[in-house]
Amino acid sequence: MKCRHCGAVLQHVFLDLGFAPPSNAYRLVADLSRPELYYPLRLKVCEQCWLVQTDDFASADQLFDSDYAYFSSTSTSWLDHARNYVEEIIPALCLDQDSFVVEVASNDGYLLKNFVGHGIPCLGVEPTASTADYAESIGVPVAREFFGEKFAVEMVEKNGKADLIIGNNVYAHVPDINDFTRGLSVALKSTGTITLEFPHLQNLIEKVQFDTVYHEHFSYLSLHSVSAIFEAAGLRIWNVERMPTHGGSLRVYGCHKDDPRQNRDSVHAVLQAEKEFGLLDIAVYQGFQQRVETVKDRFVAFLIDAKQQGKSVLAYGAAAKGCTLLNFSGVKKDLLPMVADAAPSKQGKFIPGCHIPIVSPQALVDLAPDYLIIFPWNIAAEIIAQNQFLAERGTRFVTFIPEMDIR
Ligand SMILES: [Zn+2]
Repeated sequence: MKCRHCGAVLQHVFLDLGFAPPSNAYRLVADLSRPELYYPLRLKVCEQCWLVQTDDFASADQLFDSDYAYFSSTSTSWLDHARNYVEEIIPALCLDQDSFVVEVASNDGYLLKNFVGHGIPCLGVEPTASTADYAESIGVPVAREFFGEKFAVEMVEKNGKADLIIGNNVYAHVPDINDFTRGLSVALKSTGTITLEFPHLQNLIEKVQFDTVYHEHFSYLSLHSVSAIFEAAGLRIWNVERMPTHGGSLRVYGCHKDDPRQNRDSVHAVLQAEKEFGLLDIAVYQGFQQRVETVKDRFVAFLIDAKQQGKSVLAYGAAAKGCTLLNFSGVKKDLLPMVADAAPSKQGKFIPGCHIPIVSPQALVDLAPDYLIIFPWNIAAEIIAQNQFLAERGTRFVTFIPEMDIR
């Protein structure tokens, strides 16, 4: 396999999570007696451009079908994050009724609805029908397409170029990251700004966030790798901010290469921090597998101990993180009987691979388990606050990454 960005042959597999189904391929009751597709789940690192990437097996069409069930608006902290971003960026870029804002992977309109509220013209780009339908129902215009160079050319003909292009948690999910980035360049006005947010590779390695690895997450990005990809498309990163979201993300600000804006000191600082951490050295990647297996062993041991002691254990959050951890661990419903999730579109279905049933959080009210495992550790505080009534009934909350934490 060759690097998705620079084409160098990839030599180093540094994480092997075995085989797993796509994490959003939720199963229906009828599916449980049918065969299920599994793909290898491995991370490789390119020694030329240091892009970390998954094996290239499943096509994007297969992974992001029209049943794709994730709705951004189910997380209140993410909604706050989106609203705060909009309130900051409008004055910073002097956006008004004559501006044009594009969001790639606009999901259910969780972010663009804030621009609609300010009367600023915008367009969402979203291939997933269920979320696009919802966005349109709340007044957010949507192009139901995958974003790339071809789409960008068509969009410019129809709608003109954009003053601001936003991509939150989409860049890492793009199979052809070069084509996507050329699309950004084509769609951006000469004075325009791009902001992309993505989980920072340094946190993945440092904090053993291996459950953020899944097939739909093709690239694991650093400022080094993203700078190289931008450069190749005639773009430049002039500012970067660290965000607490998703366990530690970067928000990069891009522009055309010849834009007069000077690079801020933050760009040099983050590049330097990555280098000092060792992201440009193969040694930091070696040994990661063993740290991952330690976390997995602790998770499985906890479930077995609880079962032997007659304690009840349920989990919260039926998304990719839980799917990766459960399938790598080989845990089934004998050890973990159900997972609660607030998204109605997932309830009544089953987690891919391990086939653990997904229930409404309402079920927790009746069951009040001894332990509630929180899979999305990045929003653990929010979930604990929502389920404070369980703490009052003796439930303890458990997360496993970077290490076991019982609260
Ligand atoms: Zn490369």
